[in-house]
Amino acid sequence: MDRNQQLFERARALIPGGVNSPVRAFRAVGGTPRFVQRAEGAYFWDANGARHIDYIGSWGPMILGHGHPAVVEAVQKAVRDGFSFGAPTEREVELAEEIVKHLPAVEMVRLVSSGTEAAMSAIRLARGATGRSRLIKFEGCYHGHADALLVKAGSGLATFGHPTSAGVPPEVVQHTLVLEYNNVAQLEEAFTRYGNELACVIIEPIAGNMNFVRASVPFMKKLRELCTNHGALLVFDEVMTGFRVALGSAQALYARNIPGFRPDLTVLGKVIGGGMPLAAFGGPRALMEHLAPLGPVYQAGTLSGNPVATACGLATLQQISDPRFFPMLEARTRTLVEGLRGAAEAEGVPFAADHQGGMFGFFLLPQLPANYGEVMKSDAAKFGRLFHGLLDRGIYIAPALYEAGFVSSAHSEDDIAQTVAAAREVFRTLA
Ligand code: PMP
Repeated sequence: MDRNQQLFERARALIPGGVNSPVRAFRAVGGTPRFVQRAEGAYFWDANGARHIDYIGSWGPMILGHGHPAVVEAVQKAVRDGFSFGAPTEREVELAEEIVKHLPAVEMVRLVSSGTEAAMSAIRLARGATGRSRLIKFEGCYHGHADALLVKAGSGLATFGHPTSAGVPPEVVQHTLVLEYNNVAQLEEAFTRYGNELACVIIEPIAGNMNFVRASVPFMKKLRELCTNHGALLVFDEVMTGFRVALGSAQALYARNIPGFRPDLTVLGKVIGGGMPLAAFGGPRALMEHLAPLGPVYQAGTLSGNPVATACGLATLQQISDPRFFPMLEARTRTLVEGLRGAAEAEGVPFAADHQGGMFGFFLLPQLPANYGEVMKSDAAKFGRLFHGLLDRGIYIAPALYEAGFVSSAHSEDDIAQTVAAAREVFRTLA
């Protein structure tokens, strides 16, 4: 009896596609999604009782693995004290302090419940604070499903984007310009034309929604200069990379290479909630004070700063603030990526990979892609075979070739060795 299959059939009768978020449905790779029964450390067990080494970790939040004792304890205590009040709590202040402590670009934060909400609100703030409407996003970056951000590139620079989703009127995305990631010439041209009308540019500094593609340092440097010179705000969407690629997030990595580098606004999610619905956006005081109730930019939420979610996020951030944490996580991730690279080479499979902190990406391509078009040259059928080969061997990676992977501190050397050995077996069948 396949319980995953049974549950999927029940789910499909009631929930569109059987899932509450599309990529879970395995549409890109085929087969039956695994229904999770329970998780602990680096593993989850599906409805058939099969154990999987989990490299998704709730798509990023589970940086300590599942059920870390200190986090569980904090959450249990918080639950006993009440689930939600709709009134301020001390933990919201503590979490804000913890975030601000690690991000020099962030003087004030507003807590929300999802990355979508955080990105949408940051855009509204950027527009409200600048009094401008236009914005730039990059092809292959995802910033949640707010209408204005569900846009694909138009046919040329002169044209603004087209909606990527039904239900988004073209008028709603008429101010959104979509550019190619890492393309300096296109960026300069766009600023020459529209620079003084731009409220902001939103970017995933390491794009985890096209697997793992870094914005190059020269590209980021130019982007920062253009934004500053034209009075447009640079919005870093660090929902995925925040407290995941480094304690100071991706912005700290760029600051190492670009003196004085800072984004204007930062969007956070995932790790800061430790697996609970929690996200945030923040920036300098003068910008953040445009928000209600101080300023004219409206933003609100019944469950914002939820006491259980803040307890979970705070306990998670406290664990990862140990100075030994990131070097250890980085070393594990490197072992995994180098192991996979070695296995692919040994079996003659084209392979390129990159990683930072506890986040990684790999491509069945001879070299790392720099933008969405290059990512999409990947062989989807081959990726599907790799995915299922690994899944059959108890290794759970993202079921789509344009998603990043995540290592937690609960992944042991042994888990990683098992993963590499399984990958080598599967690579042999792909070569
Ligand atoms: N921004 C980025 C970079 C993301 O990766 C995601 C989600 N994967 C979002 C925003 C949206 O977050 P959420 O799913 O919590 O709405």
